[in-house]
Amino acid sequence: MSYILDREIKYLPGIGEKRAGLLEKELGIRTFGDMLYTFPFRYIDRSKVYSIAEIDSATAYIQLRGRIVRTSAAGEGKGRRLIATLRDESGTIDLVFFKGVKWIQDKISANKEYIVFGKPSLFNGTWNMVHPELDPVGESGTSSWPSTLIGIYSSTDKLRNNGISVKVFAKLQQTLQQKIQGLIRETLPQEVIAANKLPSLAFALSNIHFPKDIRSLEAARYRLKFEELFFLQLSLLRQKNVRMSGSSGILFRKVGEAFNWCYSHLPYELTGAQKRVIKEIRRDTVSGKQMNRLLQGDVGSGKTMVAMLSALIAVDNGYQACIMAPTEVLAVQHWRNFERSLTGSGVRVALLTGSTKAKERREIDAGLRDGSIDILIGTHAVIEESVVFHRLGFVVIDEQHRFGVDQRARLRLKSTEPPHILVMTATPIPRTLAMTLYGDLDVSVLDELPPGRKPVQTIHVTEGQRYKMYDFIKKEIKSGRQAFIVYPLIKESEKLDYQNLEEGYQTVVNYFPAPEFVTAVVHGQQTNENKAHDMKLFADGKADILVATSVIEVGVDVPNASVMVIESAERFGLSQLHQLRGRVGRGAEKSYCILMTGYKLSEDSRKRIELMCSTGDGFELAEADLRMRGPGDMEGTRQSGLAFDLRIADLGKDSPILAQARSAAADILATDPLLESPSSALLRTGLDRLRQEGGEVIDYSTIS
Ligand code: ADP
Ligand code: MG
Repeated sequence: MSYILDREIKYLPGIGEKRAGLLEKELGIRTFGDMLYTFPFRYIDRSKVYSIAEIDSATAYIQLRGRIVRTSAAGEGKGRRLIATLRDESGTIDLVFFKGVKWIQDKISANKEYIVFGKPSLFNGTWNMVHPELDPVGESGTSSWPSTLIGIYSSTDKLRNNGISVKVFAKLQQTLQQKIQGLIRETLPQEVIAANKLPSLAFALSNIHFPKDIRSLEAARYRLKFEELFFLQLSLLRQKNVRMSGSSGILFRKVGEAFNWCYSHLPYELTGAQKRVIKEIRRDTVSGKQMNRLLQGDVGSGKTMVAMLSALIAVDNGYQACIMAPTEVLAVQHWRNFERSLTGSGVRVALLTGSTKAKERREIDAGLRDGSIDILIGTHAVIEESVVFHRLGFVVIDEQHRFGVDQRARLRLKSTEPPHILVMTATPIPRTLAMTLYGDLDVSVLDELPPGRKPVQTIHVTEGQRYKMYDFIKKEIKSGRQAFIVYPLIKESEKLDYQNLEEGYQTVVNYFPAPEFVTAVVHGQQTNENKAHDMKLFADGKADILVATSVIEVGVDVPNASVMVIESAERFGLSQLHQLRGRVGRGAEKSYCILMTGYKLSEDSRKRIELMCSTGDGFELAEADLRMRGPGDMEGTRQSGLAFDLRIADLGKDSPILAQARSAAADILATDPLLESPSSALLRTGLDRLRQEGGEVIDYSTIS
């Protein structure tokens, strides 16, 4: 018989076809197992009733108890709502209903006592609760909940509007618990369970939903977090073993002409950190093992030169190198950089992007095949099938988080011998995250900025000071500097963004009239040619201002720019803000980052802005960022390059569990490095499951 957790969710009593479709669409729940692994995101203590006066900004979901003293209808059309005022001994709070108004009206009887459950929110300076759950006292007293700790599941409007309220969802979870009783298969070997004092999976999966008490809940959470991190680590460390036991790496025996030529023509002295990292790469490429190295370096730390010199070592040994950048703007910039540094060296560099013309493209293809092109720089275009190398030996992936696992794998396929790989990122990755994501990679850090950099002064400005800010920019331009003005880019609505930017652009042009001022503009709706044209205008110092969406976020290097204005700064995440700020402060002049926001800011936005103003250290910001964002924050995980979503573990908070899980995984691999023995069958199953869920850790060295 098939495993109970694989059964389709429509067969769970109370669900059926229609609800099943909805659950899949809204929450990705297709099977019993999916449902079982949809955990509450928080718990409330059902025995605790708050008084209305106790509510403050720290309270999330709570219970109140009181009487409805008044109801009134307000608004019209879509804004029509019912307001029911709840009173207890300490005060009153408005309960607001936008939907099911009639139903609520009928249900509420004045002067009856209710238990109200919901999330208070602040509106126009007073607290209210939108769409709380409402139970007459008495009814909820005789509740069927098996415990006083109630799990709260996340939900969506669609689900709520279609009869799957948070409460109904919890009821379904209860039904599910009955169905799976006694049928859960253990996923961890007994030795691991014993050595780490974990409860059984069955216990954990029951208590995570319906905790017997707080200690059982803690134990359940620990077990599930441990398991999640354990399999990630196991996958990662096993892959490293595979790589180490596998084919020998290409040998770059010598440092030759190309490298030495470039080195002796450098316009500056390399920083100590740059020299150190180049040595590390040297060591890797003579080790006989394939290099898999992550180069972390804060914005402006000079990663490009490290990439160039390393690529030249490959060239000196008769191999080709390929540098892949996430955007065309960046690829072009790299290419120009390489051209500038290598003219006269005899090294042939080519640029391949989506806008390369067919004829030129044919020439490049030929040059790559016959080996006359030494270094190829480009965007995603370089991984297309038609691109065939003569002898690819070295691959650099810049700003890696913009690329999918798949694309990396395809790049690797372009060579019969596995090329050495250098992945560069300017998003500093906190230690915990680095360990989880890149346990398989060796990590180098450029922890030193080139000399002469001055810290960027970061200032928070609100709308009312806009023209004062413009005047400041004018002063900077008059003294020969340039300014970026950046608008947010949101995926949901590129149109809206564009409008936003377009209006902003008009305002800027009005205040900075031509021909006295030249304003360039770069955004996603332009043709690549226009984009390149305006970008070049600014890079060459012919435009004073660049109005852009956050496409310029990564990598763009214009040392003469001294002002970075970020519009609607509250809409950016910390790491993005830091990236953007890194675009200035590259020259000798003092630079400024101006964060423009609305007057009203959420707690989180305010914190982010304050942090930005208080520190310039990317690593410090990254740690703070990870702490501030809870688990399961998709945008957050995506930004940090995590290709999957952790269900329950929180990389910001669970590093002790991570360390324990990692050492448990290492212990197992010490005796069975590739998990080939029969006793490792259970673990292999676990890794298969991880792979199916798309949670397999990025593996740079093999193609899965
Ligand atoms: P990132 O690490 O953000 O990619 P870049 O490689 O773009 O940084 O380098 C930032 C700037 O610093 C560039 O203008 C580059 O020419 C310059 N630079 C790099 N290394 C040095 C150095 N050792 N001394 C002085 N300037 C340097
Ligand atoms: Mg860069």
